[in-house]
Amino acid sequence: MKELLCPKCGVKMEFMAEAETGNDGKTIKYFYRCPACGTKIIGSTIEIKKGENSSVLIKVMN
Ligand SMILES: [Zn+2]
Repeated sequence: MKELLCPKCGVKMEFMAEAETGNDGKTIKYFYRCPACGTKIIGSTIEIKKGENSSVLIKVMN
């Protein structure tokens, strides 16, 4: 994980993850957040879905 500085105020940003549960799976969003001004930079989003025959599909979007 690389360090990122806030484009607004130059403070080191915190790396965070947020999980959402939907009807057919989960979405995990990774993002950087500035502790000073609250600016968010979205890293990547991972979708975890249940497929047929109990398989699990994982999709990563950048
Ligand atoms: Zn900031």
